[in-house]
Amino acid sequence: MDVIGVDLGGTKVLAATVDGATVGDRRKRPTPVDGPTAVVAAIAGMVRELGGADRLGIGTPGYVDDEGVVRGAPNLAGWDEPVPLAALVAEATGIAAVAVDNDVNVATMGEVAHGAAAGRPDVLTVFMGTGVGGGLVLGGELRRGPRGLVGEIGHVVVERDGRRCACGGRGHMEAYAGRAAMEAEARRRHAAGEATALVDRAGDRRMKSGTFAKALADRDPVAAEILAEAVDAVGCVVASAVMLVDVPFVVLGGGVVEKLPRLVGDVAAAAAARLDDGLAPEVVAAALGDDAGIVGAAALAASLP
Ligand SMILES: [Zn+2]
Repeated sequence: MDVIGVDLGGTKVLAATVDGATVGDRRKRPTPVDGPTAVVAAIAGMVRELGGADRLGIGTPGYVDDEGVVRGAPNLAGWDEPVPLAALVAEATGIAAVAVDNDVNVATMGEVAHGAAAGRPDVLTVFMGTGVGGGLVLGGELRRGPRGLVGEIGHVVVERDGRRCACGGRGHMEAYAGRAAMEAEARRRHAAGEATALVDRAGDRRMKSGTFAKALADRDPVAAEILAEAVDAVGCVVASAVMLVDVPFVVLGGGVVEKLPRLVGDVAAAAAARLDDGLAPEVVAAALGDDAGIVGAAALAASLP
């Protein structure tokens, strides 16, 4: 069975032939900014270049329903209306078996099928990037929920009436642990008169995950405090998840964790501190890195009936 995995992102589209965890031929294009039709054409073009497939999996930003319809993908220009991505790609490629899910669910599938959580039936994933996303597998099955909300872990409340989140809510975990929120906090403190290597290093440019890692290595106190708050927020939510759904195994990944691998142990300790003896989950680093999207998308396609 030939399977192609597609990782549709806000800036680039990756496609590759995938056999289990092994990535073969790859293609990469900038994400077209003129709406879904152009994106579907780009995917179909890459699939042709790769020689076609029996099955195709796609990870995309936004919410995805059971029919492969993408809703609310603010990172994709011109995707304001619901887009029946699975149906459109099936038509454009001639491949009948097309599976679509959101990028975090797809990365979760990848880690469970071929990565850090291989062979584990009950897994929570937490990916710390610009925002914080997560996925939940219970009894070997990826949970989605009637509205696709399962694993939207960044928007779990960790502080009543706390910091404003990008989504408009208050006190959400992402408002403490997302890279964008950590950057906003660093700039707020800098503007209030606190010196920090974070702003010295980043200047007016985006404050990357690597900038946090370097500032921490420089023993910058503001960076240390911001990261401690992030760890605490994630640890809180992990501990809550353990008590809510009894998940014993946690995979921590995303750009922030790749640059700061010590967060894995820190989050494990922050979660354990809030749980009774013997209930602390095992926390491990994600294993698939940049390939999580394509490997996970292919795993999703391979799991189609
Ligand atoms: Zn939120």
